[in-house]
Amino acid sequence: MGILEVKGVNKRFGGLQALGDVNLSIAENTVHAIIGPNGAGKSTLLNVLVGKLIPDSGSVMFDGQSVLGRKPFEIAQMGISRVFQTPEIFSDLTVMENVLIPCFAKRDGAFRMHAIEPVRHERAITAQAEAMLEEVNMLSKAHEIASSLSRGDKRRLEMAMCLVQEPRLMLLDEPTAGMARADTENTIALLKDIRTKRGITMAIIEHDMQVVFSLADRITVLAQGTPLVEGSPDQIKTDPKVREAYLGE
Ligand code: ADP
Ligand code: MG
Repeated sequence: MGILEVKGVNKRFGGLQALGDVNLSIAENTVHAIIGPNGAGKSTLLNVLVGKLIPDSGSVMFDGQSVLGRKPFEIAQMGISRVFQTPEIFSDLTVMENVLIPCFAKRDGAFRMHAIEPVRHERAITAQAEAMLEEVNMLSKAHEIASSLSRGDKRRLEMAMCLVQEPRLMLLDEPTAGMARADTENTIALLKDIRTKRGITMAIIEHDMQVVFSLADRITVLAQGTPLVEGSPDQIKTDPKVREAYLGE
């Protein structure tokens, strides 16, 4: 049994079957990549996993408990946390304030901007936020306004906001999208480091094959809303169906 078990999940948007009978099992302490062409349903699947979308049918179990019908913050409290395709940070707040919000949310529920006030002066919480920023190499930028950060730094900040919630399963939707090569390399190194230090299970959606092949233990290829093949990186690299459907050969 995986830490995450998705069984028979279907999701339609009007006439479009975005997910069709998706079965997926993610083993604890692995990095599981979900790849596939644009429109394959990858983000829709992630949205189902974090409670942003309710599937039409099927089940999603995390560590033996159903996540379906729970609010996103309840799912976060269960131990699933996500890094979005477009970084979702509070642009007008400082880096430090952004990390304080999930510190508070972990204890008391929803992500709210005014939630930082009660914790801003709690030493235990600010120390936790500082340690987190140090881990992602952002402590020197703690007092910069988030909107002024580079794309790579915004991503690092978002990872800090995710990790400070101490998830057991971290979901990443195209964590290197739009990044320059050097930032992509840094992100790969950071994710490897997080994994070694924290032993978190990761599900990662990624277009960049270099990222996928340098991080993933297992790969699921999604095509038109349905898993096409699953295997180790070596199996995926050489699978004729994948080469045809995805690598365009
Ligand atoms: P991917 O992330 O693999 O590129 P998505 O999960 O974003 O794909 O989208 C899968 C399909 O569902 C696409 O055809 C997309 O246009 C459609 N879709 C996604 N979200 C919605 C929505 N909220 N309403 C209608 N169609 C959607
Ligand atoms: Mg997507």
